[in-house]
Amino acid sequence: MNIFSQSNPFIIAGPCAAEDEEQMQNIAHSFKNTAVNMIRAGVWKPRSKPGFFEGRGEIALQWLQTVKEISGKKVCTEIATPEQIELALKYDLDAVWIGARTTVNPFVVQELADALKGSKIAVLVKNPINPDIELWSGAIERIQKAGIENLAAIHRGFSSYDSTSKYRNKPNWAIPIELKRRYKELPIFCDASHICGSIELIPSISQRALDLDFDGLMLETHPNPAAALSDAKQQLTPAALFDLISKLTIREPIDGSTQDEIEHIRQIIDSLDAEVVDLIGKRMDIVKSLAILKNKNNMPIYQVDRWSEIIESRTNWGKKNDLDADFLLKLFELIHDKSIKTQIQIKN
Ligand code: PEP
Ligand code: MN
Repeated sequence: MNIFSQSNPFIIAGPCAAEDEEQMQNIAHSFKNTAVNMIRAGVWKPRSKPGFFEGRGEIALQWLQTVKEISGKKVCTEIATPEQIELALKYDLDAVWIGARTTVNPFVVQELADALKGSKIAVLVKNPINPDIELWSGAIERIQKAGIENLAAIHRGFSSYDSTSKYRNKPNWAIPIELKRRYKELPIFCDASHICGSIELIPSISQRALDLDFDGLMLETHPNPAAALSDAKQQLTPAALFDLISKLTIREPIDGSTQDEIEHIRQIIDSLDAEVVDLIGKRMDIVKSLAILKNKNNMPIYQVDRWSEIIESRTNWGKKNDLDADFLLKLFELIHDKSIKTQIQIKN
């Protein structure tokens, strides 16, 4: 049995980065005899810009060994080069994960797969930073072909240039759901910490993942988040983590009955509808800026040409998705009408 299926949900928690021995021992003691299944800590940290904390390197692997002894839990870290894999194996880590910035590069993933050949270590593959399912599943297949049996995927959201997003990395649930359809036996985790970027939304995103049948959660946890050397805003204290775990609703595994399948499909519909509502909300928000500009320049709110253009482009887009023109016309009449009303309100 895949080690990541040994508990439902399987919880991986621990700091973004191993910073010092005291922090790591503190975490080990906090997690002893708890629902946490595996302790994470970054040893080599991929930072977008130079000049920031990049992890302690090899010495932190020694701390992880001590963590394992104290807590009795499995331990894991991120690897991005064959040399780092060699060290992770030397220090007897239970698992390694491939980070989002590494999954994007098939050359690197193949080098990692070659370095993993013949080892018994478990591997988790994060989604690439861009929403490309082929890149993600390609990386998974490279690791599978290397003979790794304890394999799992992690949804950590996708980066976008959208400063209004409430997420650090936007979740796109349709992608991990499709991955699950392709690889029925592959456990899928949700890294709610890197999706959210701050702690407020972590409980709801974690619950959403479980509702969508995810197998586990990866949650960054630090004894003193405010003082963390990386990702300070998104790390939970151990107490907050335990509180979150105790409030999660764990659904019974799907037994294949019709009722169960209906329920599962409804969960997916709920999550898609949440995105639809989010997007409509955003559309209405941006309309407000449009209204202000039009007012400033004394332009009419309703422009016939623009409406014709909306109808034409939307019905064309609909063709690709099998959505008939009549339906889209009605839908956009409603949306456009609301948008015009909002602009009139602002004008007055
Ligand atoms: C991490 O888990 O700390 C990390 C760097 O993750 P990601 O690859 O998802 O950015
Ligand atoms: Mn992090």
